[in-house]
Amino acid sequence: MESKKCAQQNIRAHAPAPRFRKWNAIWSKTSFLFLFVIISACAQNQDEFKWPNGVQAAICLTYDDGLPSHIQTAAPMLDRYNFKGTFYPTLSSESLYMNMDEWKALTANGHELGNHSVYHPCSKSDVGMEWVADYHDLDSYTHDQIVEELKLANSFLLAMDGLKERTFAYPCAHTAAGGETYKDHVSQDFSAARGSSEKQSNLVSPLEIDLFDVPSWAPNQHDGKALIDYVDKIIKNKTLSTLTFHGIGAEHMRVSKKAHEELLMYLDENRDKIWVATFKEATDYLNSKRAKK
Ligand SMILES: [Zn+2]
Repeated sequence: MESKKCAQQNIRAHAPAPRFRKWNAIWSKTSFLFLFVIISACAQNQDEFKWPNGVQAAICLTYDDGLPSHIQTAAPMLDRYNFKGTFYPTLSSESLYMNMDEWKALTANGHELGNHSVYHPCSKSDVGMEWVADYHDLDSYTHDQIVEELKLANSFLLAMDGLKERTFAYPCAHTAAGGETYKDHVSQDFSAARGSSEKQSNLVSPLEIDLFDVPSWAPNQHDGKALIDYVDKIIKNKTLSTLTFHGIGAEHMRVSKKAHEELLMYLDENRDKIWVATFKEATDYLNSKRAKK
C-alpha cells in the first residue's frame, strides 16, 4: 500500500504541473503545425509546376521559312494526327506569294503563324553564313531597322490570320543585330520567342526557360530515331523544347517524310506523357504559371 502511494507520489512528482501541461500541449500542437507547414511547403516546391492533363513535358513542332513542303506535306500530316504546328514563314518566301490560299487555310485549320521577319536577316560573320546577302546581313542592321521589319511582318501576318498577339523565331537563331542583342525589343512586341539552338541540350526546368530565347533543335537529315530520342530527353527532363524543321521530304535542311511521320506516330502514342502544343499555347501556359508565382 505504502509502495503504491509512493509510486503515485512519484508520478505526480515527475508529472508537469497543470500550467506546464497546458503549455506542453500548446507547444506540441504548434510544433505539429510547424512541421505540417514545412512538409506542405516542400511538397509544393517539388510539384509547384504542372503541365496540363497530367503530362510530363511539352514539345512544339515548328516549321521555318515558308517552304512549299509545309503546305504540301507537313500541315496535311499534322492534320492526320490532329496535331497543331507553328509555322514561321519568311514573308519574302515565294510559296506565300504563289499559294496564299493554302497558307490561309493552314491558319484557319488551327496551326499557328509566327513572325520570322520579312527578309530573314542573319549574321554573315557567323560560321557557314556566306550565303547571307550583304543587304540582309544582321551585323549591319540597326535595332530600329530590325524592329521596323518585324512590325511590318506583324501587319502582313495580321492580314493573313487576324491575330495581333504573336510569337517570334529569330532567323538563324541569331539574337544580335548590329552586334548587340535585340531581345529587349522582341520582348516588347511578342509574347515569346524561339531562340538559340546551342541551348537545346541544356533542358532546364520549365520555370527557368527564358521565354524570349526558348531552346530549340533544328534537325538536318536526321532519322526518326534521332527525333524520338530527343522527345524522350524532353520527357525525362519534364520540360519544354521545340523542334525547328525546315524542308519535310524536300528543300533545305530536310527531314524525310518517313522520319517526320515516325515522330508524329511516337507523339501520338505518348499523348499521356507529352503535350504537343503550338509555340504560342505552350509559352502562354508557362507565362500564366509565372504570373501566379
Ligand atoms: Zn529561318
